[in-house]
Parts: sequence; structure tokens; C-alpha cells
Amino acid sequence: MASPKLHDFRRIVVKVGSSLLIDSVAGEVRAGWLTALAADIAELHRGGRDVMVVSSGSIALGRSRLKLPRGPLKLEESQAAAAVGQIELARTWSEVLGAHGIGAGQILVTFQDTEERRRYLNARSTIGKLLEWHAVPVINENDTVATTEIRYGDNDRLAARVATMASADLLILLSDIDGLYTAPPGSNPDATLIPVVEAITAEIEGMAGAAGSELSRGGMRTKIEAAKIATSAGTHMLIASGKIDHPLKAIADGGKCTWFLTPANPVTARKRWIAGSLEPKGTLTIDAGAVSALRAGKSLLPAGVIRVDGQFCRGDAVIVRGPDTHEIGRGLVAYDAEDADKIKGRSSPDVMTILGITGRAEMIHRDDLVVGTAPA
Ligand code: GLU
Repeated sequence: MASPKLHDFRRIVVKVGSSLLIDSVAGEVRAGWLTALAADIAELHRGGRDVMVVSSGSIALGRSRLKLPRGPLKLEESQAAAAVGQIELARTWSEVLGAHGIGAGQILVTFQDTEERRRYLNARSTIGKLLEWHAVPVINENDTVATTEIRYGDNDRLAARVATMASADLLILLSDIDGLYTAPPGSNPDATLIPVVEAITAEIEGMAGAAGSELSRGGMRTKIEAAKIATSAGTHMLIASGKIDHPLKAIADGGKCTWFLTPANPVTARKRWIAGSLEPKGTLTIDAGAVSALRAGKSLLPAGVIRVDGQFCRGDAVIVRGPDTHEIGRGLVAYDAEDADKIKGRSSPDVMTILGITGRAEMIHRDDLVVGTAPA
């Protein structure tokens, strides 16, 4: 299959590793390189793309600000170094994107934020709102609180989860190597770059094991793990060199890289996940007007709900039934069962009065809703 083109994508996550962003000798941000990357991001942004950045560098920057000696850091040392470095990292991104009139929004996530559905919905809707406001979310792992057992540790897999969470259609991993090679390119003159990977086979995984890169934390193995996460959720991924100036422009111009293609698209893959893999925790029965609205592709509003059954939490999957109890669809509900019951049948302005908070307008957002799940 031919490689896609960068301008075919509408929502793009760009992952930038520490070794690209920070000069390992001076311990400073590589300002010239970053300015060029920001210009590339601004170009995509001007073209109407939603862009997100997953940026590493907090630990490396903190280490340099605190003048910590070289050598491995203990967990609490890297957490404290990240606390210092992340402030600097956020300021840097805010400045370089701000120079193009783009607002940067910092989002620090933990493993639980991406894996627990309630928290997942929170992170996802914040990212969605920032994109709607044409800001660029700048995301990193919350290294100051993440502990060894429950952390990503590498931003390759984190970026893949963020990309799938935000229904991005492309994840770009900027790396210190320009793609996946058949063998280690440094030591094997016959090694060739694989331009397109259509399926992550055992053979591809074998190449990743051999063609690791020493500089980046993740190496090629975590990049392949990231590709598995991304492609199984309908997000294409590519690995390209970030060692050149204007790396995104180079990709747009058809430069060297490895594409990992997915047969799905993020919305259908996500909907398949909602419809097929999640055990429903409750049922919402809705009126005829809401049934028509849902079938027309709209969200489910509290006003259309006539009955709430089951013990579910925000983010759980629920079955949606019509007034005759016929299954209409399934979705991720935005309220806990108790609150859903309180606001059923009520108009959106009432929700504020009843719950005392400005809740979400929808009971189930249309992106979280799959209509027509009942067996025929
Ligand atoms: N989250 C880490 C940091 O900001 C980096 C992880 C990685 O290098 O992949 O320092």
C-alpha cells in the first residue's frame, strides 16, 4: 500500500523526545530546533488541523536546572527533578507556540487517567475543548506523582494512548532514527528502512528488538508497542527523524519515515470498542423523540431519558432502550446513576439547579454513542 500524505490527516499528535528537545551537554532546550518545529506545527494548525504535542523533557530539564550529577536518579529524585523541569518545559512550549499566536494548554496525565474510563472521559473532554478553542494541548506524564509500578515511563506508549483517547487519526513519533530498519543500521550496511508496515508481525517485532536506539528512553521496542496501541484503535502512526530542522515539513515533503497503517479509523474503532468490548452496567430508557434524535446522529440529552436502571458510574457503558424497551444503542454515560436519575426528563438549564454544578449538557455524547447495536 502507498504511504498516505500528511495533509490527509485532520487530528495529529506529535511526540517529541527528550534527546531531541534538550541538548545533553548544555542541559538546555535546543531553541533553534524547537522554533523550527513550532513553525511546522503552526503551519499544520493554519491548515485547519488539530495538533497535540506529547513532550518529554521534564526530568532532563529539571536535572540540569538543579545541577544534579550525571548517573541514574532514584524514583523520588526523578519525581522531584520533573517537578522543576515541567515548569520550564511548559513555559518553553507556551512561548514558542505563542510566537505564532497559538495558545498552549498543559495536560499532565497518569496511567490511571488514560486507563480508567471515568478519568479517561475527563482528560478526553478537556483535550476536546482545547482543540475546539484552537489551542494546542501539550501533554506529558505526570512524573511527579507517577510511581514505578503504575507509570508509562516512556512517552511513546503514552502518546499512543493519548492519540487514541483523542480520536487522532495520526501519531508522529519524532525520533533520533528515521524509521524502522530491517537490522541495526549502524552496524549492518545492508540494513534497509521499511517505508510501510501494514501489520505488526513477529518479524517486525524482531526487527524492533534489534534496531533500538540508545539515546531515546523508549527505543524501538516501545515504538512498536505504541504502534500496536495506535493501529488497533484506528490511528495511523509514523516514525521519522527529529534530528533535522523542520521535521514535520520534511514528512509533508515525502521525506524518509516508516508508516504503520491501520485498516480502521479512530471513530469506528472506538465505537466498536464501546459496542463490543464493554460490559453494560445499566440501562437508560428514552422517549420516542430522543430515539429519533439519536438515529439522526445527535447526542442523548437528559430531557429525553424517562427511566434509569442499574448502578453505573460516569464513563461506564450503558444500554439505551426505546419506550418499548427495544435496544437502540450503547454508549458511555456522562453521569453516575444517582445523578442521571435526578436529571432525567429535565431540560439542560435545570441540571445546574438540581445537581448544583454545571454538568455536561449531554447524558451521552454522540461520540460516545453507538446506535443500532441490537441484534436484528
Ligand atoms: N516523561 C518523561 C520526561 O518528561 C520522559 C519519558 C520519555 O522520555 O519517554 O522526562
